[in-house]
Amino acid sequence: MIPYARQTINQADIDAVVKVLQADFLTQGPVVPLFEQAVADYCGAQYAVAVNSATSALHIACLALGVGKGDVVWTTPITFVASANCALYCGATVDFVDIDTRTYNLSVACLAEKLAKAEVLGTLPKVVIAVHLCGQSCDMAGISALSQQYGFTIIEDASHAIGGKYKNEPIGNGRYSQITIFSFHPVKIITTGEGGMAVTNDPALAKQLRLLRSHGISSAAADMHARPLDEIWNYQQIALGFNYRMTELQAALGLSQMTRLSAFVETRHRIAQRYNTELQGLPLQTPWQQEDTYSAYHLYPIRIKPSAGSATQRQVYEALQGAGINVNLHYIPVYRQPYYEAMGFSRGYCPEAEQYYHEVISIPMYPALTDEQHDQVVGVIRKVISA
Ligand SMILES: *Cc1c(COP(=O)(O)O)cnc(C)c1O
Repeated sequence: MIPYARQTINQADIDAVVKVLQADFLTQGPVVPLFEQAVADYCGAQYAVAVNSATSALHIACLALGVGKGDVVWTTPITFVASANCALYCGATVDFVDIDTRTYNLSVACLAEKLAKAEVLGTLPKVVIAVHLCGQSCDMAGISALSQQYGFTIIEDASHAIGGKYKNEPIGNGRYSQITIFSFHPVKIITTGEGGMAVTNDPALAKQLRLLRSHGISSAAADMHARPLDEIWNYQQIALGFNYRMTELQAALGLSQMTRLSAFVETRHRIAQRYNTELQGLPLQTPWQQEDTYSAYHLYPIRIKPSAGSATQRQVYEALQGAGINVNLHYIPVYRQPYYEAMGFSRGYCPEAEQYYHEVISIPMYPALTDEQHDQVVGVIRKVISA
């Protein structure tokens, strides 16, 4: 079976995890801060807060930005459900902005149009979550300009995009947003098994993120409320937080993976170049790249163009599945999920997103993909499309 994505683990990764198992701390030890520093340094961000998943990171990022009941959060429908669920966890409502027809990221033109309407209605968003789909940055300059005009804050969901660049700077440096989120799920660019991180340049946000990842408990003297001197208060709970901590085992794996991040992304680019060449001339759309972006290439989505006599999305999908190639769709528009439909969203809400969903297939993309596997994937696609 060839998956659409998978981890790349070497002996150094294994040794790093074993070393933690033989050391004093399995959690709350020295390795988590080292991993945080490595990610902060790579991205050029001031602060990094490691957590047990990107989903947790999105949740506490929303909370740290003050999202609560009565607030509205906007994101793209072409994303994993976690990018929208985080707002619901906070008691806020979610709305969706249709996608750009070339990058498949949230469309800045649609965002501008929707903001102008929302201003009249008094329903402006508090936060916009920009998702760097497949690892290619959104038009952050455009979104950031609108955030100044309309007064919302920005979370970058860069779950696909660690190692990517925008305008020649690393994604995560915070030039255009308040908080950036990374995922270290095994299908993503680097892995910790499960895991995520929030990076920011704002010390107050970093402090709040740290507090929320560990029960809202602090033992810093400056955070402590006055208590009778004859009582022992070695920690206090000052907010309602969670146990979203990352283990030392996960951090050791992540720290080891960070040394190969740039190499992973370079290999992904080589695979993408090969697909671009080998799929040329077929009635399908390979991923278009915006000039000022350097994608981390988490995914390689092809769009099967509906044309007379040519294979349909379903035929290509089933041919690949039938050949043991476990392709996937990224994504079903979030609002089409039954849970979201029950909130009142219905089919047709974001037409470009739905058109994309009906045409897209993510074909295998990961550094460990062998040349033989690559040839097999291309062979099946060529065969089903020209049949
Ligand atoms: C994977 C992913 C998440 C969730 O990441 P986890 O680490 O699995 O919680 C969130 N957003 C996007 C866009 C993702 O692809």
